[in-house]
Amino acid sequence: MRENAQVTRIGIIGGGPGGYEAALVAAQLGGEVTVVDRDGLGGSAVLTDCVPSKTLIATAEVMSDTAESGELGVLLGAGDSPSDQVGVDLGKVNARVTALAQAQSADIAARLDREGVRVVHGLGRLDGPTRVVATTDGGEETIEVDAVLVATGAHPRVLPDAQPDGERILTWEQLYTLADLPEHLIVVGSGVTGAEFASAYTALGCDVTLISSRDRVLPGEDADAAEVLEGVFKRRGMTVLSRTRAGAVRREGDRVVVTLSDGGTVEGSHCLMAVGSIPNTAGLGLEEAGVRLGDAGFIEVDRVSRTSATAVYAAGDCTGVLMLASVAAMQGRIAMWHLLGDAVTPLNLRAVSSNVFTDPEIATVGWTENDMDDSGSTVTVKLPLATNARAKMQGVHDGFVKLFARSGSGTVVGGVVVAPRASELIFPVALAVDGRLTVDQVAHSFTIYPSISGSVAEAARQLHTKVWRD
Ligand SMILES: Cc1cc2nc3c(=O)[nH]c(=O)nc-3n(C[C@H](O)[C@H](O)[C@H](O)COP(=O)(O)OP(=O)(O)OC[C@H]3O[C@@H](n4cnc5c(N)ncnc54)[C@H](O)[C@@H]3O)c2cc1C
Repeated sequence: MRENAQVTRIGIIGGGPGGYEAALVAAQLGGEVTVVDRDGLGGSAVLTDCVPSKTLIATAEVMSDTAESGELGVLLGAGDSPSDQVGVDLGKVNARVTALAQAQSADIAARLDREGVRVVHGLGRLDGPTRVVATTDGGEETIEVDAVLVATGAHPRVLPDAQPDGERILTWEQLYTLADLPEHLIVVGSGVTGAEFASAYTALGCDVTLISSRDRVLPGEDADAAEVLEGVFKRRGMTVLSRTRAGAVRREGDRVVVTLSDGGTVEGSHCLMAVGSIPNTAGLGLEEAGVRLGDAGFIEVDRVSRTSATAVYAAGDCTGVLMLASVAAMQGRIAMWHLLGDAVTPLNLRAVSSNVFTDPEIATVGWTENDMDDSGSTVTVKLPLATNARAKMQGVHDGFVKLFARSGSGTVVGGVVVAPRASELIFPVALAVDGRLTVDQVAHSFTIYPSISGSVAEAARQLHTKVWRD
């Protein structure tokens, strides 16, 4: 390989956030960039995962806000269930979702074009560490490069006895073909994806059964947050089956039958399988190029996105580091900053904010409760939103703000917000964690009165004495 300063030809396989954000940085720094992408720029993030699901959830939010607005004096149609009061045209919703995703993909394509990035539509693979072979409709093209970024993403895991048929047994990629609201949707898997869709479809007015193999929904999230959410789910009429595994899913005419681990069955009109993702790393020539894969097929990378092969970087879901679009994009940018000799800070997972787009949302950043030990080196405070003036005005009853800080120094190390639009409210906490602000610095900043973010500052104020006393 040539010296870093001379590296100009970069091949990127995969045009999702990991790939296209890297392409933009590489082009900005003078690289000659070719992106080989199979399905459309923006990747799964834009075409099948984040953008479509959050667009659907935007409609679901309006539905549940409307359905629960009676307390605020809004008069709705007659009937007890949300669907009796307000209705949804799922065909129209899904047409909007699909059009919006395509438009977002086109925007990204136009931006790459403006920045001088070459895009090849086809299937990419490595032929050694510095050669990308693209199979396109027109045949094979070999692209000689100085370095490669692999950002091929992941796809939904399919269980052998629960094969999706695209009509009634569905992966999350297939949901947007539905023209009518399912009468009864069974969601298998209570991780982030399962919980988000279960929440959204309940709000849209459909009966939902959520099958969770664990004690509670969202086993990977803050336990208090998951408890609040499960309570809201049940209050809204969702059936949550905990400690239950779905063994098999079969179609019987226009019904689906899910067989449970205890031998019982659940019957519904549709079933969504949300049981995890498999990295798109097979058949890419990775191991032949010297790229080491972990047990589950994810590409092993360090904090500047280097793989075990010189000149080969990897970013995003194919690395399994933290399967978020924001992390994929940052890994891709870091790879290019490192490759092209720009200033680079290694990936810091402690600073990543993430959000579960349920209703209410759950946003987290930094340390979690599980990271706390009993040594007394950290203190925490949890403020229920029920005491927040703005929350009362808006009829928000569920949720809280929780902050974690180091005792002694008072540095904010993490936080959890459970609230409507928690994704917007976590930013001050993220700034505090990233900038190592103290609870006093957060507490002394002005917040709007009345505002839900006022609870973030109030939590910091309450930590002031705990930091020194506990
Ligand atoms: C339902 C759902 C909702 C989500 N919502 C959010 C969210 O709200 N916020 C968030 O941060 N994250 C969210 N995520 C996670 C997010 O979608 C992923 O982390 C993100 O897509 C990863 O980006 P990526 O670039 O690694 O891969 P992808 O977005 O999957 O892009 C990879 C691209 O590579 C292409 N490709 C694969 N193999 C080849 C090949 N051999 N040759 C050429 N091209 C190839 C694919 O076609 C695709 O275009 C969600 C995930 C799911 C499943």
